[in-house]
This record gives sequence, structure tokens and C-alpha cells, in this order.
Amino acid sequence: MTSHRLHVWPWLRPLGRLLLPDWLAITIGRDVLAWRDLSERELRHELAHVAQWRRHGWTLPVRYALESFRAWRAGESWYRGNRFEVEARAAERSAEDEA
Ligand SMILES: [Zn+2]
Repeated sequence: MTSHRLHVWPWLRPLGRLLLPDWLAITIGRDVLAWRDLSERELRHELAHVAQWRRHGWTLPVRYALESFRAWRAGESWYRGNRFEVEARAAERSAEDEA
């Protein structure tokens, strides 16, 4: 499993909600910050973001923002249409789900 640290901080909830109403977690480097504990599926989503951080390093926030802008300009959701989120959603499904 991808090396990571999960931090569960309930006080983050109102902060994240300013950006996304149904916000749950954000990943920065290999640190996953969540306002409640994550299910396996939710953790797999965040671990995909850990892998993206490893791949792109500190250029990821810039790439992510540009990608959100591209999605928004194409008439998609800046969040759901962002290819980094599309990739993370695909990673939510485990090997067992596919069997
Ligand atoms: Zn995500």
C-alpha cells in the first residue's frame, strides 16, 4: 500500500466546506487530512492523490488548478471533471470489486 499518513481532524470540516459542500478529505504530499475516518474505498481515492503527489511533486497544486480551470471552461465541474479526480475515482474500485 502507498506510504501515507492519515490525520482525522473533525475541526477541518467547516473549512473544507467553504470549497466543496460534501468535502471529506484532502491530500497534501503523503498526508491525508480528513474530518472523519475513511472507508477503504475513500482511502483508495486519497491514495491515488498520494501517488499523484509522488509523480508531480510540488507542481501538483498548479497542475490541479490548471486542470480545474480547463474542466470549468469546457463546461464540466471544476472538481468532478478534473482529470486528477477522474483518476482517483477510478482507483476507488478495488481488485475484489472487479472480480
Ligand atoms: Zn479526490
